[in-house]
Amino acid sequence: MRSTVLALGLSVLAVLAPIGAGAAEPAEDRSAIITAIDQAARPNAFDVTFTLRGDSRASVLRLRNPDRVAIDFPSALPAAALSAISANPLVSEVRHGLVAADRYRFIFKLAKPADAALTRDTVEGGEKITLAFTPAARPTGGVSAAAAPRETMVPTSAPAPREPKGRAVVVIDPGHGGIDNGAVSKSGTQEKAINLAFSRELAAALEKTGTVEVVLTRRDDTFIPLDERSQIGRRRKADLFVSIHADSIRHGDLRGATVYTLSDRASDDLASQIADSENAADRFAGPEGMEEKPEVFDILVDLTRRETVSFSEHFATSLVEGFGAHDVRLIKNPKRSAGFKVLRAPDMPSVLVELGYLSNPDDEKLLTDPVWRKRTAEAIAQATTQFLARHQKTVAETGR
Ligand SMILES: [Zn+2]
Repeated sequence: MRSTVLALGLSVLAVLAPIGAGAAEPAEDRSAIITAIDQAARPNAFDVTFTLRGDSRASVLRLRNPDRVAIDFPSALPAAALSAISANPLVSEVRHGLVAADRYRFIFKLAKPADAALTRDTVEGGEKITLAFTPAARPTGGVSAAAAPRETMVPTSAPAPREPKGRAVVVIDPGHGGIDNGAVSKSGTQEKAINLAFSRELAAALEKTGTVEVVLTRRDDTFIPLDERSQIGRRRKADLFVSIHADSIRHGDLRGATVYTLSDRASDDLASQIADSENAADRFAGPEGMEEKPEVFDILVDLTRRETVSFSEHFATSLVEGFGAHDVRLIKNPKRSAGFKVLRAPDMPSVLVELGYLSNPDDEKLLTDPVWRKRTAEAIAQATTQFLARHQKTVAETGR
């Protein structure tokens, strides 16, 4: 049996950016320092050992969608770097950063279902914390390849791990549909049809790259409640969710594309108006659709959400740049945010693109023009694949 122990280089940690936006400044007083991080990969197990000066009070958490294991160090800062995961059967990626002023977190993304156990040993001046990954609980005496899938609750996390460089899943959500026409222009153009035609073009452009798996939330003129749209993406463990729209606004002279992300507080009046009108789509969904699910106050959901929001922001910026590079007309301040219901999945980076506004006759002309549609779809497809490639690289190189 081959057993590898990789001691990672010790480097002074100057600045490690916090995970997600809004994480606070590091606290002054820290009781522990992580002085070394070692990895040990074996054929059917993987250990990560943290050596600390001082007392860590480390704890382990599970994060879902995707399946991850996190270890938290309250009042500890790392002076050792963990930039890449060595080859092993269970863990595919690591990210780390401050998740609160006094809490440092390492998040390990699982390549397949796994259990993680924490053990601690006291050493001179501190302790060694080992996080041991083993394949998810199975009957003793081993498990055959055929028996494994039946034990897996979620089919997509089946035994064969997803190729690390496998295709990213992008969900395209053509807004409105069925009984909900969306915006309707003075001349009678319906937003739902614009959105579907554009989404099909975008799906084709993305599929052509061969690097992305595309899922459409609707392929025809059907009504789908907002929550169901984001659920489709979550079930597919989507890497990105892009909702496509072309609404009307009160100011008929405003025109150009806008990229919206989720925020509690709207960035401006226009964003707030658009979010209200989009969220009203659920008036067609009946009482169940209108029902606001109570917000689960869960620190883990909250932290995941922060990461997701930050990722969505970066993606929105890339899209705006992509539009600019392809001469797609943009509204003034093209990146805006508000409380869009369809963007609320805590664990799936999501943006909503208003391609233009049907309230403006010039925009309407473009929105119904197949040449413009193709060019704009190409712009989004290119920005999306470049963003995904860059992000995968970043994760592999820096753990972020
Ligand atoms: Zn819309």
